[in-house]
Amino acid sequence: MLDFLGNLKRTHYCGHLRAKDASSHTGGDAVVLGWVAKRRDLGNLLFLDIRDRSGIVQVVFNKETDATAHAKAEHVRSEYVVAVEGKVVLRQRPNPEIGTGEVEIIASKLHILNNAKTPPFPIEEEVNAAEETRLRYRYLDMRRPKLHKNIVLRHKIVLEIRKTMDEMGFVEVETPMLTRSTPEGARDYLVPSRVHHGQFYALPQSPQIFKQILMIGGLDRYFQIVKCFRDEDLRADRQPEFTQLDLEMSFPRQEDIFGVIENVMVRACGVAGVTVSGAFPHMLYKDAVRKYGSDKPDLRFGMELHEVSYCFPEEAKQKLQIEGKVFAFAAPGAASYSRKQLDELTEKAKSAGARGAYFVKLAPEGTTSTVEKLIGAENVKKLAEFCAAKPGDLVVAVSAKQQIRGTEAAALVAGQLRLHLGEALNQIDRSQWKFLWITGFPLFEWSESDQQWVSAQHPFTGIVDEDLDKLEQPERRGEIRSKGYDLVLNGYELGSGSIRIHRQDIQERLFKALGLTEEQLRSRFGFFIDALTYGTPPHGGIALGVDRIAMLLSGEKSLREVIAFPKTTAAQDLMADSPSSVDTIQLDQLGIQIARK
Ligand code: ASP
Repeated sequence: MLDFLGNLKRTHYCGHLRAKDASSHTGGDAVVLGWVAKRRDLGNLLFLDIRDRSGIVQVVFNKETDATAHAKAEHVRSEYVVAVEGKVVLRQRPNPEIGTGEVEIIASKLHILNNAKTPPFPIEEEVNAAEETRLRYRYLDMRRPKLHKNIVLRHKIVLEIRKTMDEMGFVEVETPMLTRSTPEGARDYLVPSRVHHGQFYALPQSPQIFKQILMIGGLDRYFQIVKCFRDEDLRADRQPEFTQLDLEMSFPRQEDIFGVIENVMVRACGVAGVTVSGAFPHMLYKDAVRKYGSDKPDLRFGMELHEVSYCFPEEAKQKLQIEGKVFAFAAPGAASYSRKQLDELTEKAKSAGARGAYFVKLAPEGTTSTVEKLIGAENVKKLAEFCAAKPGDLVVAVSAKQQIRGTEAAALVAGQLRLHLGEALNQIDRSQWKFLWITGFPLFEWSESDQQWVSAQHPFTGIVDEDLDKLEQPERRGEIRSKGYDLVLNGYELGSGSIRIHRQDIQERLFKALGLTEEQLRSRFGFFIDALTYGTPPHGGIALGVDRIAMLLSGEKSLREVIAFPKTTAAQDLMADSPSSVDTIQLDQLGIQIARK
Protein backbone atom coordinates (compact mmCIF):
# COMPACT_ATOMS: atom_id res chain seq x y z
CA MET A 1 0.00 0.00 0.00
CA LEU A 2 1.38 3.34 -1.00
CA ASP A 3 1.03 6.47 1.06
CA PHE A 4 0.01 9.90 -0.15
CA LEU A 5 2.25 12.93 0.06
CA GLY A 6 -0.64 14.77 1.71
CA ASN A 7 0.65 17.62 3.82
CA LEU A 8 4.18 16.33 4.21
CA LYS A 9 6.74 19.03 3.73
CA ARG A 10 10.50 18.69 3.48
CA THR A 11 12.36 20.38 6.33
CA HIS A 12 15.85 19.57 5.09
CA TYR A 13 17.56 18.32 1.97
CA CYS A 14 19.26 15.02 2.89
CA GLY A 15 22.76 16.09 1.89
CA HIS A 16 22.59 19.35 3.87
CA LEU A 17 22.18 17.79 7.32
CA ARG A 18 25.04 18.57 9.72
CA ALA A 19 25.84 18.26 13.40
CA LYS A 20 24.19 21.63 14.15
CA ASP A 21 20.84 20.23 12.93
CA ALA A 22 20.87 17.66 15.73
CA SER A 23 20.57 20.34 18.37
CA SER A 24 18.84 23.14 16.52
CA HIS A 25 15.75 25.01 17.72
CA THR A 26 13.58 22.39 15.99
CA GLY A 27 14.90 19.92 18.55
CA GLY A 28 16.38 17.98 15.68
CA ASP A 29 13.03 17.19 14.04
CA ALA A 30 13.34 16.52 10.36
CA VAL A 31 11.33 15.41 7.36
CA VAL A 32 13.33 14.24 4.37
CA LEU A 33 11.98 13.17 0.99
CA GLY A 34 13.86 11.13 -1.54
CA TRP A 35 14.91 7.78 -2.93
CA VAL A 36 16.18 4.70 -1.13
CA ALA A 37 19.83 4.46 -2.13
CA LYS A 38 20.72 1.51 0.09
CA ARG A 39 19.13 -0.79 2.68
CA ARG A 40 20.95 -2.75 5.38
CA ASP A 41 18.89 -5.00 7.59
CA LEU A 42 20.60 -5.97 10.84
CA GLY A 43 17.53 -7.51 12.49
CA ASN A 44 16.46 -5.07 15.17
CA LEU A 45 18.10 -2.20 13.40
CA LEU A 46 17.43 -1.38 9.78
CA PHE A 47 19.36 1.31 7.93
CA LEU A 48 18.18 3.18 4.86
CA ASP A 49 20.36 5.64 2.96
CA ILE A 50 18.00 8.26 1.58
CA ARG A 51 19.13 10.25 -1.44
CA ASP A 52 17.88 13.49 -2.93
CA ARG A 53 19.61 15.91 -5.26
CA SER A 54 21.81 17.26 -2.50
CA GLY A 55 23.27 13.95 -1.32
CA ILE A 56 22.63 11.10 1.08
CA VAL A 57 21.69 10.75 4.74
CA GLN A 58 21.54 7.61 6.85
CA VAL A 59 18.21 6.78 8.51
CA VAL A 60 17.88 4.26 11.35
CA PHE A 61 14.73 2.23 12.07
CA ASN A 62 14.70 0.66 15.52
CA LYS A 63 12.34 -2.29 16.04
CA GLU A 64 12.22 -1.77 19.78
CA THR A 65 11.40 1.93 19.86
CA ASP A 66 9.48 2.41 16.58
CA ALA A 67 8.10 -0.96 15.64
CA THR A 68 5.60 0.28 13.02
CA ALA A 69 8.13 2.33 11.09
CA HIS A 70 10.61 -0.53 11.29
CA ALA A 71 8.06 -3.04 9.96
CA LYS A 72 7.29 -0.75 7.05
CA ALA A 73 10.95 -0.20 6.27
CA GLU A 74 11.32 -3.94 5.76
CA HIS A 75 9.21 -3.59 2.61
CA VAL A 76 11.18 -0.91 0.84
CA ARG A 77 13.69 -1.65 -1.88
CA SER A 78 16.26 0.39 -3.79
CA GLU A 79 14.87 3.45 -5.55
CA TYR A 80 11.53 3.45 -3.72
CA VAL A 81 10.37 6.99 -3.10
CA VAL A 82 9.88 7.69 0.59
CA ALA A 83 9.30 10.36 3.20
CA VAL A 84 10.91 9.93 6.58
CA GLU A 85 9.93 11.76 9.74
CA GLY A 86 12.39 11.55 12.58
CA LYS A 87 15.06 13.17 14.69
CA VAL A 88 18.53 14.17 13.62
CA VAL A 89 21.10 12.83 16.08
CA LEU A 90 24.87 12.70 16.25
CA ARG A 91 26.27 9.39 15.12
CA GLN A 92 28.22 7.35 17.59
CA ARG A 93 30.71 6.53 14.90
CA PRO A 94 30.87 9.36 12.33
CA ASN A 95 31.56 8.47 8.70
CA PRO A 96 34.08 10.96 7.26
CA GLU A 97 33.45 9.65 3.72
CA ILE A 98 30.13 11.47 3.31
CA GLY A 99 29.11 15.07 3.93
CA THR A 100 26.36 14.08 6.36
CA GLY A 101 28.62 11.54 8.10
CA GLU A 102 28.39 13.20 11.54
CA VAL A 103 24.65 12.60 11.84
CA GLU A 104 21.83 10.17 11.20
CA ILE A 105 18.05 10.32 11.45
CA ILE A 106 16.24 8.12 13.94
CA ALA A 107 13.00 7.46 12.08
CA SER A 108 9.66 7.68 13.80
CA LYS A 109 7.55 7.41 10.65
CA LEU A 110 8.05 6.12 7.15
CA HIS A 111 5.79 6.98 4.22
CA ILE A 112 6.24 4.92 1.07
CA LEU A 113 5.24 7.29 -1.72
CA ASN A 114 6.11 5.08 -4.65
CA ASN A 115 7.74 1.80 -5.44
CA ALA A 116 10.32 1.12 -8.15
CA LYS A 117 11.38 -1.72 -10.36
CA THR A 118 14.90 -3.00 -9.81
CA PRO A 119 17.05 -0.57 -11.82
CA PRO A 120 19.13 -2.03 -14.66
CA PHE A 121 22.27 -0.71 -12.98
CA PRO A 122 23.01 0.39 -9.42
CA ILE A 123 22.81 4.14 -8.93
CA GLU A 124 26.33 4.81 -7.71
CA GLU A 125 29.02 7.41 -8.28
CA GLU A 126 31.00 5.17 -10.64
CA VAL A 127 28.83 2.98 -12.84
CA ASN A 128 30.11 0.11 -14.92
CA ALA A 129 26.98 -0.07 -17.03
CA ALA A 130 27.45 0.37 -20.77
CA GLU A 131 26.87 3.93 -21.91
CA GLU A 132 23.98 2.73 -24.06
CA THR A 133 22.16 1.45 -20.97
CA ARG A 134 22.87 4.66 -19.13
CA LEU A 135 21.45 6.70 -22.01
CA ARG A 136 18.38 4.50 -22.38
CA TYR A 137 17.60 4.97 -18.67
CA ARG A 138 18.85 8.53 -18.48
CA TYR A 139 16.46 9.37 -15.61
CA LEU A 140 18.22 6.76 -13.46
CA ASP A 141 21.66 7.80 -14.66
CA MET A 142 20.77 11.33 -13.64
CA ARG A 143 20.26 10.28 -10.03
CA ARG A 144 24.01 9.66 -9.85
CA PRO A 145 25.78 12.44 -7.96
CA LYS A 146 28.31 13.05 -10.71
CA LEU A 147 25.90 13.65 -13.56
CA HIS A 148 23.79 15.66 -11.19
CA LYS A 149 26.76 17.82 -10.27
CA ASN A 150 27.61 18.39 -13.93
CA ILE A 151 24.07 19.50 -14.75
CA VAL A 152 24.03 21.90 -11.82
CA LEU A 153 27.47 23.30 -12.70
CA ARG A 154 26.31 23.84 -16.26
CA HIS A 155 23.31 25.79 -14.97
CA LYS A 156 25.60 27.95 -12.81
CA ILE A 157 27.94 28.63 -15.74
CA VAL A 158 25.07 29.63 -18.02
CA LEU A 159 23.57 31.81 -15.31
CA GLU A 160 26.90 33.59 -14.80
CA ILE A 161 27.28 34.08 -18.56
CA ARG A 162 23.81 35.63 -18.72
CA LYS A 163 24.55 37.94 -15.78
CA THR A 164 27.89 39.00 -17.23
CA MET A 165 26.43 39.69 -20.67
CA ASP A 166 23.59 41.70 -19.15
CA GLU A 167 26.04 43.75 -17.07
CA MET A 168 27.93 44.60 -20.25
CA GLY A 169 24.78 45.89 -21.92
CA PHE A 170 23.99 42.91 -24.14
CA VAL A 171 20.34 42.12 -24.78
CA GLU A 172 19.20 38.51 -25.14
CA VAL A 173 17.06 38.07 -28.24
CA GLU A 174 15.53 34.83 -29.47
CA THR A 175 15.89 34.05 -33.15
CA PRO A 176 13.74 31.56 -35.09
CA MET A 177 14.27 27.82 -35.01
CA LEU A 178 12.17 27.30 -38.13
CA THR A 179 14.19 29.23 -40.64
CA ARG A 180 16.26 28.79 -43.78
CA SER A 181 19.68 27.37 -44.42
CA THR A 182 22.61 29.19 -42.76
CA PRO A 183 25.90 28.56 -44.50
CA GLU A 184 28.09 27.28 -41.64
CA GLY A 185 29.41 24.49 -43.83
CA ALA A 186 27.41 21.54 -42.44
CA ARG A 187 24.33 19.72 -43.68
CA ASP A 188 20.97 21.13 -42.60
CA TYR A 189 18.26 19.47 -40.60
CA LEU A 190 15.14 20.11 -42.63
CA VAL A 191 11.54 20.44 -41.46
CA PRO A 192 8.81 19.99 -44.07
CA SER A 193 6.09 22.60 -44.21
CA ARG A 194 2.50 21.29 -44.20
CA VAL A 195 1.03 24.59 -45.28
CA HIS A 196 3.51 25.24 -48.06
CA HIS A 197 3.50 22.00 -49.87
CA GLY A 198 6.92 20.80 -50.99
CA GLN A 199 8.74 23.51 -49.05
CA PHE A 200 11.06 23.12 -46.08
CA TYR A 201 12.35 25.07 -43.15
CA ALA A 202 15.92 24.46 -42.04
CA LEU A 203 16.83 24.33 -38.37
CA PRO A 204 19.50 26.99 -37.81
CA GLN A 205 23.14 25.93 -38.00
CA SER A 206 23.62 29.20 -36.13
CA PRO A 207 21.71 32.48 -35.79
CA GLN A 208 24.41 34.14 -37.93
CA ILE A 209 22.24 36.05 -40.41
CA PHE A 210 19.65 37.02 -37.79
CA LYS A 211 22.23 38.42 -35.41
CA GLN A 212 23.74 40.50 -38.18
CA ILE A 213 20.26 41.75 -39.04
CA LEU A 214 19.78 42.68 -35.37
CA MET A 215 22.79 44.97 -35.79
CA ILE A 216 21.20 46.50 -38.90
CA GLY A 217 18.12 46.89 -36.69
CA GLY A 218 20.15 49.05 -34.32
CA LEU A 219 20.20 46.64 -31.36
CA ASP A 220 23.93 47.38 -30.86
CA ARG A 221 24.70 44.47 -28.49
CA TYR A 222 22.95 41.10 -28.86
CA PHE A 223 23.51 37.76 -27.22
CA GLN A 224 21.67 34.48 -26.95
CA ILE A 225 22.21 31.12 -25.32
CA VAL A 226 20.92 29.20 -28.28
CA LYS A 227 20.50 25.74 -29.74
CA CYS A 228 22.09 25.17 -33.13
CA PHE A 229 21.72 22.15 -35.39
CA ARG A 230 24.29 20.66 -37.74
CA ASP A 231 23.94 17.32 -39.48
CA GLU A 232 27.55 16.20 -39.29
CA ASP A 233 29.38 13.01 -38.46
CA LEU A 234 29.68 12.98 -34.70
CA ARG A 235 32.65 12.71 -32.39
CA ALA A 236 33.02 12.79 -28.63
CA ASP A 237 33.09 16.58 -28.69
CA ARG A 238 30.25 17.09 -31.17
CA GLN A 239 26.48 16.74 -30.98
CA PRO A 240 23.88 17.25 -33.72
CA GLU A 241 22.16 19.85 -31.55
CA PHE A 242 24.39 21.94 -29.38
CA THR A 243 24.25 25.15 -27.38
CA GLN A 244 26.16 28.31 -28.18
CA LEU A 245 26.74 31.57 -26.44
CA ASP A 246 26.13 33.65 -29.54
CA LEU A 247 26.87 37.35 -29.60
CA GLU A 248 27.21 40.30 -31.92
CA MET A 249 28.09 43.94 -31.39
CA SER A 250 28.12 47.07 -33.51
CA PHE A 251 31.17 49.28 -34.17
CA PRO A 252 33.57 46.86 -32.48
CA ARG A 253 37.30 46.68 -32.72
CA GLN A 254 38.65 43.16 -32.48
CA GLU A 255 39.94 43.87 -28.98
CA ASP A 256 36.46 44.93 -27.83
CA ILE A 257 35.06 41.51 -28.69
CA PHE A 258 38.05 39.79 -27.10
CA GLY A 259 37.52 41.88 -23.95
CA VAL A 260 33.87 40.85 -23.72
CA ILE A 261 34.70 37.16 -24.09
CA GLU A 262 37.63 37.31 -21.69
CA ASN A 263 35.35 38.81 -19.08
CA VAL A 264 32.71 36.14 -19.68
CA MET A 265 35.21 33.29 -19.56
CA VAL A 266 36.98 34.53 -16.44
CA ARG A 267 33.60 34.69 -14.68
CA ALA A 268 32.38 31.34 -16.03
CA CYS A 269 35.62 29.68 -14.91
CA GLY A 270 35.29 31.33 -11.51
CA VAL A 271 31.93 29.60 -11.00
CA ALA A 272 33.71 26.26 -11.49
CA GLY A 273 36.46 27.25 -9.06
CA VAL A 274 38.99 27.77 -11.85
CA THR A 275 40.99 30.98 -11.55
CA VAL A 276 42.15 32.52 -14.81
CA SER A 277 42.98 36.09 -15.66
CA GLY A 278 41.95 38.14 -18.65
CA ALA A 279 43.86 39.34 -21.68
CA PHE A 280 44.42 35.92 -23.20
CA PRO A 281 47.51 35.59 -25.40
CA HIS A 282 47.23 35.79 -29.20
CA MET A 283 48.83 33.64 -31.87
CA LEU A 284 48.71 33.84 -35.65
CA TYR A 285 47.14 30.88 -37.39
CA LYS A 286 50.29 30.21 -39.37
CA ASP A 287 52.45 30.24 -36.24
CA ALA A 288 50.04 27.87 -34.49
CA VAL A 289 50.35 25.43 -37.37
CA ARG A 290 54.12 25.75 -37.66
CA LYS A 291 54.78 25.53 -33.93
CA TYR A 292 52.09 23.13 -32.79
CA GLY A 293 50.73 21.56 -35.97
CA SER A 294 47.21 22.63 -35.07
CA ASP A 295 44.86 25.59 -35.28
CA LYS A 296 43.87 24.83 -31.68
CA PRO A 297 47.17 24.24 -29.92
CA ASP A 298 47.29 22.79 -26.44
CA LEU A 299 49.72 25.09 -24.64
CA ARG A 300 49.76 23.13 -21.41
CA PHE A 301 52.97 21.51 -22.62
CA GLY A 302 55.93 22.33 -24.86
CA MET A 303 57.27 19.88 -27.45
CA GLU A 304 57.20 22.59 -30.11
CA LEU A 305 57.64 21.69 -33.77
CA HIS A 306 60.57 22.77 -35.90
CA GLU A 307 60.94 22.73 -39.63
CA VAL A 308 63.95 20.52 -40.38
CA SER A 309 63.68 20.02 -44.14
CA TYR A 310 67.28 21.15 -44.66
CA CYS A 311 68.58 18.25 -42.56
CA PHE A 312 67.42 16.02 -45.40
CA PRO A 313 69.71 16.23 -48.46
CA GLU A 314 68.10 15.98 -51.90
CA GLU A 315 69.16 12.39 -52.41
CA ALA A 316 67.70 11.30 -49.09
CA LYS A 317 64.48 13.09 -49.94
CA GLN A 318 64.23 11.18 -53.17
CA LYS A 319 64.91 7.82 -51.50
CA LEU A 320 62.34 8.56 -48.79
CA GLN A 321 59.92 10.01 -51.37
CA ILE A 322 59.66 13.24 -49.38
CA GLU A 323 57.84 15.91 -51.40
CA GLY A 324 57.06 18.76 -49.05
CA LYS A 325 58.64 19.88 -45.81
CA VAL A 326 59.76 17.85 -42.83
CA PHE A 327 58.67 18.86 -39.32
CA ALA A 328 60.10 17.47 -36.09
CA PHE A 329 59.96 17.78 -32.32
CA ALA A 330 61.72 16.32 -29.30
CA ALA A 331 59.77 13.89 -27.14
CA PRO A 332 61.18 14.15 -23.59
CA GLY A 333 62.52 10.92 -22.16
CA ALA A 334 61.42 8.75 -25.08
CA ALA A 335 64.93 7.69 -26.17
CA SER A 336 64.23 4.44 -24.36
CA TYR A 337 61.41 3.59 -26.77
CA SER A 338 61.78 0.08 -28.16
CA ARG A 339 61.84 -0.90 -31.80
CA LYS A 340 58.23 -2.03 -31.39
CA GLN A 341 57.17 1.31 -29.91
CA LEU A 342 58.82 3.16 -32.79
CA ASP A 343 56.98 0.92 -35.25
CA GLU A 344 53.73 1.75 -33.52
CA LEU A 345 54.55 5.44 -33.71
CA THR A 346 55.28 5.11 -37.41
CA GLU A 347 51.90 3.41 -37.88
CA LYS A 348 50.22 6.24 -35.97
CA ALA A 349 52.02 8.80 -38.10
CA LYS A 350 50.95 7.05 -41.28
CA SER A 351 47.33 6.89 -40.27
CA ALA A 352 47.58 10.62 -39.50
CA GLY A 353 48.74 11.21 -43.09
CA ALA A 354 52.51 10.83 -42.93
CA ARG A 355 54.63 9.63 -45.81
CA GLY A 356 57.20 8.52 -43.26
CA ALA A 357 58.42 9.00 -39.70
CA TYR A 358 62.13 9.33 -38.91
CA PHE A 359 63.62 9.06 -35.45
CA VAL A 360 66.73 10.16 -33.58
CA LYS A 361 67.42 8.62 -30.16
CA LEU A 362 69.61 10.55 -27.75
CA ALA A 363 70.33 7.50 -25.58
CA PRO A 364 73.09 7.32 -22.94
CA GLU A 365 74.98 4.82 -25.07
CA GLY A 366 75.05 7.30 -27.93
CA THR A 367 72.89 9.05 -30.51
CA THR A 368 71.35 6.78 -33.14
CA SER A 369 68.91 7.43 -35.94
CA THR A 370 66.72 5.40 -38.25
CA VAL A 371 67.82 7.64 -41.13
CA GLU A 372 71.50 8.08 -40.28
CA LYS A 373 72.63 6.16 -43.37
CA LEU A 374 70.55 8.39 -45.60
CA ILE A 375 71.15 11.83 -44.12
CA GLY A 376 74.56 11.36 -42.45
CA ALA A 377 75.76 11.82 -38.86
CA GLU A 378 76.17 15.58 -39.24
CA ASN A 379 72.51 16.04 -40.23
CA VAL A 380 71.37 13.73 -37.43
CA LYS A 381 73.19 16.00 -35.01
CA LYS A 382 71.64 19.11 -36.56
CA LEU A 383 68.20 17.57 -36.39
CA ALA A 384 68.58 17.00 -32.66
CA GLU A 385 69.97 20.50 -32.20
CA PHE A 386 67.15 22.22 -34.09
CA CYS A 387 64.66 20.47 -31.87
CA ALA A 388 66.67 21.41 -28.75
CA ALA A 389 66.64 17.71 -27.84
CA LYS A 390 68.22 16.77 -24.52
CA PRO A 391 69.93 13.52 -23.56
CA GLY A 392 67.23 10.91 -23.12
CA ASP A 393 64.90 12.47 -25.71
CA LEU A 394 63.55 11.03 -28.91
CA VAL A 395 63.38 13.27 -31.96
CA VAL A 396 60.35 12.51 -34.11
CA ALA A 397 60.36 13.87 -37.68
CA VAL A 398 57.64 13.44 -40.29
CA SER A 399 56.87 14.25 -43.89
CA ALA A 400 53.35 14.26 -45.32
CA LYS A 401 51.91 11.88 -47.86
CA GLN A 402 49.84 14.58 -49.49
CA GLN A 403 50.51 18.27 -49.61
CA ILE A 404 47.52 20.46 -48.75
CA ARG A 405 47.17 23.75 -50.59
CA GLY A 406 47.55 26.72 -48.29
CA THR A 407 48.84 24.91 -45.22
CA GLU A 408 51.75 22.87 -43.85
CA ALA A 409 50.71 19.26 -44.23
CA ALA A 410 53.74 17.77 -42.44
CA ALA A 411 53.27 20.12 -39.48
CA LEU A 412 49.66 18.98 -39.12
CA VAL A 413 50.79 15.33 -38.96
CA ALA A 414 53.57 16.18 -36.50
CA GLY A 415 50.98 18.08 -34.42
CA GLN A 416 48.91 14.93 -33.99
CA LEU A 417 51.98 12.96 -32.88
CA ARG A 418 52.89 15.77 -30.49
CA LEU A 419 49.48 15.44 -28.84
CA HIS A 420 49.71 11.68 -28.72
CA LEU A 421 53.20 11.67 -27.20
CA GLY A 422 52.48 14.61 -24.91
CA GLU A 423 49.72 12.51 -23.38
CA ALA A 424 51.67 9.22 -23.42
CA LEU A 425 54.74 10.82 -21.85
CA ASN A 426 52.71 12.62 -19.21
CA GLN A 427 53.77 16.06 -20.36
CA ILE A 428 50.38 17.74 -19.95
CA ASP A 429 50.03 19.83 -16.82
CA ARG A 430 46.37 19.25 -15.98
CA SER A 431 46.25 22.04 -13.44
CA GLN A 432 46.65 24.63 -16.20
CA TRP A 433 43.94 26.49 -18.11
CA LYS A 434 45.52 27.82 -21.28
CA PHE A 435 43.30 30.17 -23.23
CA LEU A 436 44.52 31.43 -26.57
CA TRP A 437 43.19 33.63 -29.38
CA ILE A 438 44.07 32.50 -32.88
CA THR A 439 43.99 35.24 -35.52
CA GLY A 440 45.18 35.77 -39.09
CA PHE A 441 43.15 32.94 -40.61
CA PRO A 442 43.01 32.54 -44.35
CA LEU A 443 39.63 33.57 -45.78
CA PHE A 444 39.40 30.54 -48.03
CA GLU A 445 40.51 26.96 -47.82
CA TRP A 446 40.96 24.59 -50.70
CA SER A 447 38.36 21.86 -50.95
CA GLU A 448 39.80 18.72 -52.51
CA SER A 449 36.34 17.24 -53.00
CA ASP A 450 34.90 20.33 -54.72
CA GLN A 451 38.22 21.29 -56.34
CA GLN A 452 37.66 24.91 -55.45
CA TRP A 453 38.26 27.52 -52.75
CA VAL A 454 35.54 27.56 -50.11
CA SER A 455 34.99 29.84 -47.11
CA ALA A 456 37.25 28.73 -44.27
CA GLN A 457 34.59 29.94 -41.82
CA HIS A 458 31.28 31.28 -43.13
CA PRO A 459 30.86 33.71 -46.02
CA PHE A 460 30.07 36.73 -43.81
CA THR A 461 33.58 36.79 -42.34
CA GLY A 462 35.32 40.12 -42.89
CA ILE A 463 38.32 40.45 -45.19
CA VAL A 464 41.57 42.23 -44.28
CA ASP A 465 41.26 45.59 -46.06
CA GLU A 466 44.55 45.33 -47.98
CA ASP A 467 43.61 41.90 -49.33
CA LEU A 468 40.24 42.91 -50.79
CA ASP A 469 41.52 43.30 -54.34
CA LYS A 470 42.71 39.71 -54.41
CA LEU A 471 39.06 38.61 -54.43
CA GLU A 472 39.03 39.06 -58.19
CA GLN A 473 42.41 37.33 -58.67
CA PRO A 474 41.72 33.59 -58.53
CA GLU A 475 45.42 32.67 -58.31
CA ARG A 476 45.78 34.74 -55.11
CA ARG A 477 42.71 33.49 -53.25
CA GLY A 478 44.81 31.38 -50.92
CA GLU A 479 46.65 34.51 -49.71
CA ILE A 480 43.59 36.46 -48.59
CA ARG A 481 43.44 36.95 -44.83
CA SER A 482 40.16 37.07 -42.96
CA LYS A 483 39.13 39.11 -39.95
CA GLY A 484 38.22 35.89 -38.19
CA TYR A 485 39.43 34.59 -34.83
CA ASP A 486 39.06 31.49 -32.71
CA LEU A 487 39.16 31.03 -28.98
CA VAL A 488 41.07 27.95 -27.86
CA LEU A 489 41.26 26.37 -24.41
CA ASN A 490 43.63 23.49 -23.60
CA GLY A 491 43.64 22.26 -27.18
CA TYR A 492 39.88 22.61 -27.74
CA GLU A 493 38.29 25.15 -30.04
CA LEU A 494 35.76 26.90 -27.83
CA GLY A 495 34.39 29.01 -30.63
CA SER A 496 34.98 31.29 -33.52
CA GLY A 497 33.88 34.64 -34.78
CA SER A 498 34.90 37.59 -36.87
CA ILE A 499 34.51 41.19 -37.73
CA ARG A 500 31.94 40.92 -40.55
CA ILE A 501 31.57 42.20 -44.03
CA HIS A 502 29.13 45.07 -43.51
CA ARG A 503 29.14 46.51 -47.03
CA GLN A 504 26.78 45.13 -49.63
CA ASP A 505 29.27 45.60 -52.52
CA ILE A 506 31.95 43.55 -50.74
CA GLN A 507 29.48 40.85 -49.67
CA GLU A 508 28.40 40.46 -53.30
CA ARG A 509 32.01 40.28 -54.50
CA LEU A 510 32.70 37.58 -51.93
CA PHE A 511 29.69 35.51 -53.00
CA LYS A 512 30.80 35.83 -56.61
CA ALA A 513 34.32 34.74 -55.69
CA LEU A 514 32.73 31.66 -54.13
CA GLY A 515 31.19 30.90 -57.50
CA LEU A 516 27.56 31.78 -56.68
CA THR A 517 25.54 32.85 -59.70
CA GLU A 518 23.33 35.92 -59.53
CA GLU A 519 20.22 33.70 -59.25
CA GLN A 520 21.68 31.53 -56.49
CA LEU A 521 22.77 34.64 -54.65
CA ARG A 522 19.31 36.21 -54.89
CA SER A 523 17.39 33.09 -53.98
CA ARG A 524 19.62 32.14 -51.02
CA PHE A 525 20.70 35.47 -49.57
CA GLY A 526 18.63 38.09 -51.40
CA PHE A 527 16.91 39.28 -48.22
CA PHE A 528 20.22 39.67 -46.45
CA ILE A 529 21.96 41.47 -49.30
CA ASP A 530 18.98 43.84 -49.44
CA ALA A 531 19.15 44.45 -45.69
CA LEU A 532 22.84 45.35 -46.03
CA THR A 533 21.90 48.26 -48.29
CA TYR A 534 19.87 50.09 -45.63
CA GLY A 535 22.68 51.49 -43.49
CA THR A 536 24.53 48.56 -41.94
CA PRO A 537 26.94 49.51 -39.16
CA PRO A 538 30.35 47.82 -38.96
CA HIS A 539 29.78 44.84 -36.69
CA GLY A 540 31.31 41.64 -35.43
CA GLY A 541 30.80 38.83 -32.99
CA ILE A 542 31.56 35.33 -31.96
CA ALA A 543 29.91 32.13 -30.77
CA LEU A 544 31.26 29.85 -28.07
CA GLY A 545 30.26 26.23 -27.48
CA VAL A 546 28.50 26.09 -24.12
CA ASP A 547 28.51 22.28 -23.99
CA ARG A 548 32.24 22.25 -24.55
CA ILE A 549 32.85 24.89 -21.88
CA ALA A 550 30.76 22.88 -19.42
CA MET A 551 32.59 19.69 -20.40
CA LEU A 552 36.05 21.18 -19.81
CA LEU A 553 35.08 22.92 -16.58
CA SER A 554 33.53 19.70 -15.22
CA GLY A 555 36.71 17.83 -16.08
CA GLU A 556 34.81 15.51 -18.43
CA LYS A 557 36.00 14.02 -21.70
CA SER A 558 32.63 13.63 -23.38
CA LEU A 559 29.90 16.18 -24.09
CA ARG A 560 27.35 13.53 -23.13
CA GLU A 561 28.40 13.97 -19.50
CA VAL A 562 27.18 17.57 -19.44
CA ILE A 563 24.05 17.35 -21.59
CA ALA A 564 20.93 16.08 -19.83
CA PHE A 565 19.56 14.30 -22.90
CA PRO A 566 22.39 13.78 -25.36
CA LYS A 567 22.50 11.92 -28.65
CA THR A 568 24.76 8.96 -29.36
CA THR A 569 27.47 9.08 -32.00
CA ALA A 570 24.84 7.61 -34.31
CA ALA A 571 22.73 10.75 -33.66
CA GLN A 572 20.06 8.84 -31.72
CA ASP A 573 18.26 9.59 -28.50
CA LEU A 574 18.11 6.12 -26.96
CA MET A 575 15.67 7.10 -24.24
CA ALA A 576 13.05 8.83 -26.40
CA ASP A 577 13.94 6.48 -29.23
CA SER A 578 14.38 9.15 -31.86
CA PRO A 579 14.62 9.52 -34.77
CA SER A 580 11.59 7.32 -35.41
CA SER A 581 9.22 6.52 -38.22
CA VAL A 582 5.96 8.45 -38.35
CA ASP A 583 2.39 7.58 -39.34
CA THR A 584 1.49 7.60 -43.01
CA ILE A 585 -1.23 10.11 -42.15
CA GLN A 586 1.42 12.56 -41.00
CA LEU A 587 3.50 11.91 -44.09
CA ASP A 588 0.46 12.34 -46.34
CA GLN A 589 -0.31 15.71 -44.77
CA LEU A 590 3.21 16.78 -45.60
CA GLY A 591 3.07 15.27 -49.06
CA ILE A 592 6.07 13.07 -48.35
CA GLN A 593 6.73 9.54 -49.53
CA ILE A 594 9.59 7.46 -48.16
CA ALA A 595 11.77 6.04 -50.90
CA ARG A 596 13.03 2.52 -50.23
CA LYS A 597 16.82 2.35 -49.93
N1 ASP B 1 28.10 31.75 -36.57
C1 ASP B 1 29.44 31.36 -36.21
C2 ASP B 1 29.44 29.93 -35.72
O1 ASP B 1 28.42 29.41 -35.31
C3 ASP B 1 30.03 32.21 -35.14
C4 ASP B 1 30.22 33.61 -35.53
O2 ASP B 1 30.82 33.89 -36.57
O3 ASP B 1 29.81 34.48 -34.72
O4 ASP B 1 30.48 29.31 -35.67
